[in-house]
Amino acid sequence: MGYEIPFNQPAIIGRELEHVEAAVRGGHTSSSGPFSGRVCELLSASHEGAHVLLTTSCTDALEMSAMLMDIEPGDVVIVPSFTFVSTALAFSRAGAQLLFADIEPRTLGIDPDHVRQLLEEEPRVRAVVAVHYAGIGCDLAGLAEVMSQYPDVMLIEDNAHGLFGSADGRPLGTFGRMSTLSFHETKNFVCGEGGALVLNDPADIDRAHVLHDKGTNRRAFFLGQVDKYTWVDTGSSFGLSDMLAAFLLGQLEQRDVVLQRRREVFEAYVEALEPVASELGLRLPVVPERRQSAYHMFHVLLPDRGSRDRALDGLRERGVQATFHYVPLHSADEGRRAAAMPTACPVTDDISGRLLRLPFYNDLGADGARQAAGSLLDVLA
Ligand SMILES: *Cc1c(COP(=O)(O)O)cnc(C)c1O
Repeated sequence: MGYEIPFNQPAIIGRELEHVEAAVRGGHTSSSGPFSGRVCELLSASHEGAHVLLTTSCTDALEMSAMLMDIEPGDVVIVPSFTFVSTALAFSRAGAQLLFADIEPRTLGIDPDHVRQLLEEEPRVRAVVAVHYAGIGCDLAGLAEVMSQYPDVMLIEDNAHGLFGSADGRPLGTFGRMSTLSFHETKNFVCGEGGALVLNDPADIDRAHVLHDKGTNRRAFFLGQVDKYTWVDTGSSFGLSDMLAAFLLGQLEQRDVVLQRRREVFEAYVEALEPVASELGLRLPVVPERRQSAYHMFHVLLPDRGSRDRALDGLRERGVQATFHYVPLHSADEGRRAAAMPTACPVTDDISGRLLRLPFYNDLGADGARQAAGSLLDVLA
């Protein structure tokens, strides 16, 4: 509280409130209404025509993906250790045991070499979950090469950070069998709480709708494919309210503006910090060739944990709300309980102790970024 420059600040950017009012007045406020339809169309178009279902969160979309794959006790799922809890929880609560994979130091995404090792050791693996940290595509080509030896193991992208980013000219979120999105207030496009499941294989569409509709064949009924609707499978109440979809549509309609603003913030940070980075022992984010960032955040790596923690304190004293990021899941209490076996993730341990995230939001502007970067340089001087 009381920061001159907060870490995040969600903002109205277009017609969000107008759309919410229309949704309420239109009378369809539950899920799968007209605004949900428009959001799904927009997201489908940005995912090469994939089928999209809106959910109440990215966590829910990940849980749906576990249900769709019939993940059950005895299965194993590989997830990065350096990620948000939900990436792992969704599969663990379905009964799977987890193998925590390390990240590679360049993109901070899952390390294909470690995935290869884990796949060689553990025959029960059903899926590998990849995260595009900070909106920068992980090593998808490396993963594809490793996973081509294991055609029954499915790739799932937890794309909570990467909407509208790309790798090798293809949108992030279209590489896996399915991918998930988050519209939580901390993400690039928000509706308070919300998410989506993106289905890149049409074979998954019909069953996904049953799971999404509380285990009923309601959609087949409305499409005239069956003459009554009833309980046919497992499922839950995964659908996003159309009022929230309306808000989200207002955000997504402004995607070019949002991405442009976030890019300006990112570039202002790079401009301010790059000239002095090596002298101060700072490492800035790397966007590899042929990858387009979704500009979800801006992080720096400090030389060690002590200097990172001192920088966090110093920034706080100067009114700048910087923060660390994930506590490695492989060393969390529940992560250890959920693991099929302990794994070593030395890069994760190292990065997690040295990473600092600077304020990053649509309205920060290049000036705000320069000011926050200046405070960091002050602290390090
Ligand atoms: C935010 C986030 C989630 C969870 O998203 P919710 O919509 O809050 O459920 C999952 N994975 C990653 C990588 C995230 O950053």
